[in-house]
Amino acid sequence: MKPTYFIALFSAVLLLSCQSKEQKVTHKTYNNPLLDQWNTPFGVPPFDKIKNEDYKPAFDIALKEHKDDIEAIINNSDAPTFKNTIEAFEVSGKLLTKVSNVFYNIESANTNDVLKKLSGTLAPILSAHYDDINLNKNLFKRVKSVYENTDKSKLTAPQQKLLEDIYKKFVRSGVALEGKEEARLREINNKLAALTDQFGKNVLEETNSFELHVTDKKDLGNLPSSLVALAADEAKKRGHENGWSFTLQRPSINPFLQSSPNRKLRQKMFLGYAMRGDNDNKNDNKAIIQEIVQLRTEKANLLGYESHADLILDNAMAKKPEAVLKFMDQLWNPVLNMAKEERKAMAEFMKKDGVQGVFNGSDWRHYVEKVRKERYNFDEEEMRPYFEFNAVKKGVFTLANKLFGLTFKERNDIPKWHEDQQVFEVLEANGKHLGIIYMDFFARESKEGGAWMNELRSQSNVNGNFVTPIVTNNFNFPRPTENEPSLLSFSEAETLFHEFGHALHGLFSNVTYQSQSGTNVPRDFVEFPSQVMENWMSEPEVLKLYAKHYKTGEVIPNALIKKMNDANSFNQGFANVEYMAAAYLDMYWHTLKDIEKRDVHKFEAKKMKELGLIKEILPRYRSTYFNHIFSNPVGYSSGYYSYKWSEVLDADAFQAFKDAGSIFDQETAKKYRNMLSQGGSKDGMELYKEFRGAEPSIDPLLEKLGIK
Ligand SMILES: [Zn+2]
Repeated sequence: MKPTYFIALFSAVLLLSCQSKEQKVTHKTYNNPLLDQWNTPFGVPPFDKIKNEDYKPAFDIALKEHKDDIEAIINNSDAPTFKNTIEAFEVSGKLLTKVSNVFYNIESANTNDVLKKLSGTLAPILSAHYDDINLNKNLFKRVKSVYENTDKSKLTAPQQKLLEDIYKKFVRSGVALEGKEEARLREINNKLAALTDQFGKNVLEETNSFELHVTDKKDLGNLPSSLVALAADEAKKRGHENGWSFTLQRPSINPFLQSSPNRKLRQKMFLGYAMRGDNDNKNDNKAIIQEIVQLRTEKANLLGYESHADLILDNAMAKKPEAVLKFMDQLWNPVLNMAKEERKAMAEFMKKDGVQGVFNGSDWRHYVEKVRKERYNFDEEEMRPYFEFNAVKKGVFTLANKLFGLTFKERNDIPKWHEDQQVFEVLEANGKHLGIIYMDFFARESKEGGAWMNELRSQSNVNGNFVTPIVTNNFNFPRPTENEPSLLSFSEAETLFHEFGHALHGLFSNVTYQSQSGTNVPRDFVEFPSQVMENWMSEPEVLKLYAKHYKTGEVIPNALIKKMNDANSFNQGFANVEYMAAAYLDMYWHTLKDIEKRDVHKFEAKKMKELGLIKEILPRYRSTYFNHIFSNPVGYSSGYYSYKWSEVLDADAFQAFKDAGSIFDQETAKKYRNMLSQGGSKDGMELYKEFRGAEPSIDPLLEKLGIK
């Protein structure tokens, strides 16, 4: 899924029918297809009627209505109650959510110059709009009054959580501060915005200014011809008459490190990458990091938290930095030992290769490929014929049927945003309507890269008005040609299962409030329901159901799967260590409790040494180019661990099925669905424990990595 904050900010609930019988309202007419009632099957957006020029006026009206909603809450002459304040806040801005959901969906899936420009215009308007709400003292006064004066035992558990979450969100925004503290917070926020912006610009500048110009063809090794051509183009672009140029962009540096037999050039490239933002030039990021870290700590302290990590993790599944560190500590030594074994194998290979000297970090990627080739001789292209896209789609549908009894009925009467799309009605085993899924499979110019899931309408059930979910899955698969169908790589097929997992999370939702529904869950929970689907995808029992050769119908041979798994498992030590070292680094910076200045070099070196990181592996991101945590005001600071956390959850959850004796075990599937259906209405760890009977164990992941 896209790490879209749009989902969190603007998630959807639509005024499908009237709110409730008591408040029967007639729908206003706006003469705008985005705003007027959607008289379509299941109330889906009328994509066939919406034009570029409809968006801006729709946003203008929707923003105004949201402001009016908020004013109405503040000006209510009755004493603040859960209903007239918290619930009213929860359901405010419906129109804005409705418009935003459609706009941001189209803006990423089928964009054009007009929409791109509008997106730029809207960003500061929306950000100011939400700031006005989150920092509104009069609104906070009422929220606080409800928080302090409500008998919580009279509220349902999801209501208690809603109250708690809304109250804490306001507190974290700083609205509770007064006088000098308030002024200081504003100053810190402004400084942080400028510093994190500068950090990102510096990394970009350092990345773009580096060039390795190669003039001897031998130094390219066995680089694929398409990449050789790209490097030749790059050299021309950079003003060379001949030769090949390599940059620090990942699609350029990694293939070069893999292919080039020239150790010196590899070393130059490797160092160029590792030293970004650390060259004592105008793009140096060290002083910026010091200041960001100090300001973040100071801000956390002002808001009543011990550290920035405590502040950020307050609404995560992990809750506390200690929990994150404890989980990483369990995994660290096993993967570090694995990486040491890999280092040994590669150093031996290098010697055998006739290369003298010490095995270095810049040799790693080169020898991974050599060892892999010698040991496993696996070619990923062999897989494609078994993953024709229709077959894979059938695979996910069959899996959803076997686990949850769902069926998928294609609907041709539903407006789409592109003719390539397919729309399905999702039905329960008993034929009951569950929701709608839009699937948009193929790459095209108007679509952003990658794959993601969106909610066009989140499920909710306020005042007995059940709103069913509408979700989307978007991919960039190769389009079928006249002669060949769309054949997916293994990892593309995996992506289809992944995004479909997010879709199920949205579809299964069965909660009261939309802000707690479906994928509106903490950042360290949200990738779990998607990643878990990847486990089924490659099980022989599931492959048998769909992975058939598009010409012969033959099921993918187990031997081929085994060969792939073996080949992929080599270098898992490296991948995990590299990732986790960066996750540790993130936590080390953000668990600081005082604002003492730290020397960036010394701090990083000391911490990595204490961790026992081997010198041949660098953290996936060193501090001076760690964009995830330093280049964006929200970003992934204190959250880089989340990806691995989700992997622990997904391996452990899949183990529940294995423990039950079948990967299609119905009892376990029911419990799993029940967990997802509660979205964010309950604490993530509580939900997990209800499903699994215990906190997640790291053992299944270790086993998957081949360690246990
Ligand atoms: Zn995802």
